[in-house]
Amino acid sequence: MKHPANLKDHSLESLRERFVSEGVPAYRAAQIMNWLYKRGTEDIHQMTDLSVALREQLASVWETRAVDVRKAERSVDGTQKLALATKDERLIEAVIIPEAKRNTLCISTQVGCALACDFCATGTMGFTRNLTTAEIVDQVCRAKERVGEDETISNVVFMGMGEPLLNLAAVKESIRIMIDPRAMGLAPRRITVSTAGVVPKISELIAMAPINLAVSLHAATNAVRDILVPINKKFPLEVLLGLLRSDENVTRKRPVFFEYTLLEGVNDSIDDAKRLPGLLRDIPCKMNLIPANSHPGGRYQAPAQDVMDRFAETVYNGGMRVTLRRSRGADIAAACGQLANTETTAGTSVEIPI
Ligand code: SF4
Repeated sequence: MKHPANLKDHSLESLRERFVSEGVPAYRAAQIMNWLYKRGTEDIHQMTDLSVALREQLASVWETRAVDVRKAERSVDGTQKLALATKDERLIEAVIIPEAKRNTLCISTQVGCALACDFCATGTMGFTRNLTTAEIVDQVCRAKERVGEDETISNVVFMGMGEPLLNLAAVKESIRIMIDPRAMGLAPRRITVSTAGVVPKISELIAMAPINLAVSLHAATNAVRDILVPINKKFPLEVLLGLLRSDENVTRKRPVFFEYTLLEGVNDSIDDAKRLPGLLRDIPCKMNLIPANSHPGGRYQAPAQDVMDRFAETVYNGGMRVTLRRSRGADIAAACGQLANTETTAGTSVEIPI
């Protein structure tokens, strides 16, 4: 589908170039970024430091909004899941995870996902289309409206629906907007992009800014990872980890976060835990262990707590930094591996006041 021009599709540099090509003074771009992202104003007619004539000219060409909240659910632990509708009525999801004094927002980059990871609800949906830059950054704008007046979105993680590295151009442009002090102004270290292992795109992503890279590992052997994360058949562990060992942005700058969803009887053995430190040797990294979340139609479940504790302890004793996460928002299917819209007709869902 062809989208109308949206101001949020552009970083400051890109908007300047576009304006210049259309005869609009380049400095207007910074004013507009300020309205859109600092003041949260989307009505071009209210951008009062632009002349009335320019406001009318821009409003006749540009849109400023890309997604609308269709439904909001709040978990007992404070996690909020937003079902967001695009202009062509596709539903995507974003999750606000409150922590002490900060809110982390998990955002989507595609409608559905083609990678079909075996434990993931999104993977069962198949792939529909990539999100635009505007649709990615607008998830942050909608989320900001949902947090308390004196709060903000302090961290953004690209871990929602979709594989970010298969929509890299839009993801990179959205990150430029997020980290630009004249736009959203987030510190790069507050942004984490997760990949299932699209090896040829990793270096390009982490070279653009000192953001965090998360890698969905989920297995300690190729045999198990081939099943859980099928892209492993194309880019097996030795290729993925070889790239991470050789990329200077990994070895000299920020540690990689390895995500490992613990699935009972599948990848939770002590042998697996013992393999991980050796497998990941020489890669500055931290391991996040995540208890599996069940979803309708899913066949995996989390191991017992003592099994997970023993797994974490074994990885730690092998010399790794490791965290066993508690699951957030599981009661509203907002937890990792649970993001999949159950609505089939986007226009009929009802927003729940929160
Ligand atoms: S885990 Fe990520 S990459 Fe894998 S199917 Fe789910 S959304 Fe796609």
